[in-house]
This record gives sequence, C-alpha cells and structure tokens, in this order.
Amino acid sequence: MTYATQPEGSHYIAGSYAEDTAGTDLPVIFPGDGSTIATLHEATPDIVDRALAAAKAAQPAWAALRGVERGRILLRAAQIIRERNRDLSILETMDTGKPLQETLVADAASAAEALEYFGGLAGAITGEHIPVGEDFVYTRREALGVTVGIGAWNYPTQIAAWKAAPSLACGNTMVFKPSETTPLCALKLAEILTEAGAPPGVFNVVQGAGTVGAQLIEDGRVAKVSLTGSVPTGKKVYAAAAQHIKSVTMELGGKSPLIVFDDADLDDAVSGAINGNFYSTGQICSNGTRVFVQSGIKERFLERLAERMKGIRIGDVLDEATNIGPMVSARQREIVQGFLAKGQEEGARLVTGGGVPEGAGFWIEPAVFADVTDEMTIAREEIFGPVMSVLDFETEVEVLERANGTDYGLSAGVFTRDLARGHRMAAALQAGTCWINTYNLTPVEAPFGGVKMSGVGRENGWAAIEHWSAPKSVYVATGPCEAPF
Ligand code: NDP
Repeated sequence: MTYATQPEGSHYIAGSYAEDTAGTDLPVIFPGDGSTIATLHEATPDIVDRALAAAKAAQPAWAALRGVERGRILLRAAQIIRERNRDLSILETMDTGKPLQETLVADAASAAEALEYFGGLAGAITGEHIPVGEDFVYTRREALGVTVGIGAWNYPTQIAAWKAAPSLACGNTMVFKPSETTPLCALKLAEILTEAGAPPGVFNVVQGAGTVGAQLIEDGRVAKVSLTGSVPTGKKVYAAAAQHIKSVTMELGGKSPLIVFDDADLDDAVSGAINGNFYSTGQICSNGTRVFVQSGIKERFLERLAERMKGIRIGDVLDEATNIGPMVSARQREIVQGFLAKGQEEGARLVTGGGVPEGAGFWIEPAVFADVTDEMTIAREEIFGPVMSVLDFETEVEVLERANGTDYGLSAGVFTRDLARGHRMAAALQAGTCWINTYNLTPVEAPFGGVKMSGVGRENGWAAIEHWSAPKSVYVATGPCEAPF
C-alpha cells in the first residue's frame, strides 16, 4: 500500500493536515488482529473553531463559482479516486476490517460514483419560473452555507462522499466528523479534493467522539447537519439542531424485513438473504435481518442457505478470497454476542454459526436463527452484526402487517415470481427503499433514506440536491405597486 496508516495529521483544515496534540489520543485499531495502526488526536475546541472558520471563509466564493466549475473539481476527484482505488480500498480494509474483496468494489468506488453523479448535476441545479398573471416569480436554488456531516463507522469513505458530493455540488462547504472508530478514510477524501482543485476550506475533517459532533452542531456558523448513525444518536442530534432550527438529514438504523414467498426463485432468495445479512459482516443499516419465509418454501430455503454458508471464507482480510471479515471493534462483537445469547434464551433455534474463531481480532461466525417470532429481542432490535433471523409466515396480509410492525422504516425486500404481488407489497411496505427480487443495491441515482424512526430526508438522487439547498422565491412585479392608502 502506498498510503501509510498513520496520517500526516489528525485533522484536515483549509487544504492541509492539522494537528493539536493537546487533544485526547485516539488509537486506530485494525479489527483483523487488534493491533494499533495509527494514533490520532481528538479535536480540541481550537481545532473545531479553525475548521468552521475555514469552511465559513471559503463558502461565498465556492458558491459563486458556476455549477460546472464546482462539478469539474468533483469529477476530477472521482477520477483520482478511481486511479487509486486499490490503495484506498486497502486503507478502508485496515480502518474497518471489511475484506478487500468488498472494499475494492463497494467503498472508494461508491465515493467516486457520488462525485461523478453530483459533479455532473452541479451545473444543472436551477430554479423555476412561475407565472402569476402579468407578474412572475422565479426561484433561485441557493446553497445553505456551512454544513456538517457526521458519520458512522461501517462505510467511512462512502458516508463522507455521500454527504460531501451533494453538499459541495450545491455550493456549500463542509466540516465532516468521522466516527472515532474509523477516522482514516475521510482524510483521504479531503486530500484528494484539494488535489482535484477544491479551494482550501471547502471540505474539512475533524476527529473526535460524539462531544466533538455536538460542538459542531451547536455552532452558530453551521446551517445544516447530516448524520449517519443510530436512532439514539439521531434523537440527540435532531434535538440539538432543533434548538437552532437547523436543517437536518438523518440516516439512522433499521430492522428491515426481507420477505420470501413460496413462488420465489430459491437461489435468488437465498442470495438476497446472504447479501442482506452478511455483507460487511452484517454491519449495514439497510440489512434485511427479519427474513420472513412462507411455510411452503421454508425447509428448502434453510437447507439451501446451510449449503451456501459452506462458501464462507473467514480469514486474512487482505486476501481477496476472504468474504467475511471481523466486527469493527471488540465492543461491537460484545453487543452481537449479547444478542446471540438472548436469541437462544428466548427460544430461537440457532441453525448455524455464532462461534468465535480462535486468534486475535474481533471475529465472529455468521449466525442463522430459525423459528424466530415477532416478540423476540433479535426480531425487534437492530443488532448490526452477522445475525439472520428466519421467521415463518402463511399469507400476504399477515406478513405485511408483521413486516410493518416496527418503529423502523429504512428498507424492505420481496422475493416472488408474481410481479403484481411484488409491486403491491412494495407500495404497502413502510420503508424508504424496497427491493423486488434483489436486496441491498443502493445506486447513487436513487434516493436513499428512511421513514418512521429510520430517518429524515434523503441522500442520493435529485432528492439530495433538495436537502442540501434551499429555494428562494423572487417576486417580480411588472405593473404599479398598489397600496390601500
Ligand atoms: P452512532 O450513532 O454511535 O454514531 C454515529 C456518529 O455520531 C459517530 O460519528 C458518533 O461519534 C457521533 N455521535 C455520537 N453522539 C453524538 C452527539 N451527541 N452529537 C453528535 N454526534 C454524535 O452510530 P455507529 O457509529 O455505531 O453506527 C452504527 C449505526 O449507524 C447503526 O444504527 C446503523 O443502522 C446506522 N447507520 C445508518 C445508515 C443509514 O444510511 N441509514 C448507514 C450506516 C449506519 P463517535 O462514535 O465517534 O463517538
């Protein structure tokens, strides 16, 4: 790898690395073996202030550029990312523990797509013309100002880019705080944006735990905050933003249903369940962790799943044949182990997995529970690990009610050969994204986000532009200005 895991500085402000060793140490742990691969420092109040000041100073000139000029810089950054995909993927693997087989296609590549998509759109962000009799109104779609992004640890590069690309395309500047668990990748995005021509201060990164995130939200210079994280954090961030009536986007957790009807293509349904539960070792917000399987196909589904699970390769995450990595941290593995114990205590049948392979690192074997019922903890709470729960059902009406019987509403999937039923289900499922005969595909062209407690606002697609900009109405009178006296 060309990149050292120890960055030049902990933070990235106004176009270069910055450091303040007075901040608390933040060790970066490689989840594959528990070793420390870098030590960063949490942002001090001075660092937070410098980052916000840089973003504030850069914003007017950035917004004043033509959209195509901003777009050109984003497109250049995408090209650099693609050229360095392997090195960036290795860094992502070291930061998160996700196998290189995944990161080579899903992380830096997804960031590049976001920059390409929003870079392309930047010149097309326009207002409308609204006739009002002889007068008219035109709208200007304006930047919000200084924006804040706060990320989770499961997709550090993708999350940073999914926020930065549309925000910057709209003429905003950003201060991004990665999760303290995975602080390395966003720094590379910042470095590459500078190399691509982004003026100093347009995209800044500060490190630290939730307290640093909280400082950013409360600062009067910040117009908007976009969080990817859990529901409990979402509540705090939403409440803090509300104190100042700041605009928010909340990409939060889920407990999504994946529904397999008797008439489904068996192998496709099993593939969907594997992708929707074990990719990234189950650490994906949109996972279909409640797998509802209709009674007529249940035994065949479980048998085929057991056969396909023999294809799991746990091991060296830098070996491209490995398809399951460790959990991101010792803490996250403990949480998953707690859910595994709870599942067994409450009477679910552990069909396979759940063991802890020997050796250093935060490993756990992907697990499947069958005979899970709606009341069990593993069917209600987000686990954020490789634990699939298989639940039985008989009818469409029944499964729809049970699938929607959750406070979450991020995603949902349906496997059936009856397309009318597929569309009927997609319309009735309470979720921001539904998949028919596939699972977990999130192309940048399509809006992504949640309903109910899974979130507010949307990332990706044109919808993201609407969430990172504001329309201003300009009324133009063509006649005399009338008044009552
Ligand atoms: P957390 O909610 O623990 O943290 C998310 C981010 O918020 C971190 O950077 C965290 O800092 C920061 N944070 C914590 N408290 C505050 C606060 N009071 N004010 C401001 N920022 C704060 O989530 P995880 O990192 O554990 O990620 C897993 C969660 O993220 C899951 O629930 C998952 O579903 C969700 N997620 C949602 C996605 C979506 O698009 N809907 C995608 C990916 C994940 P730190 O951790 O450094 O202390």
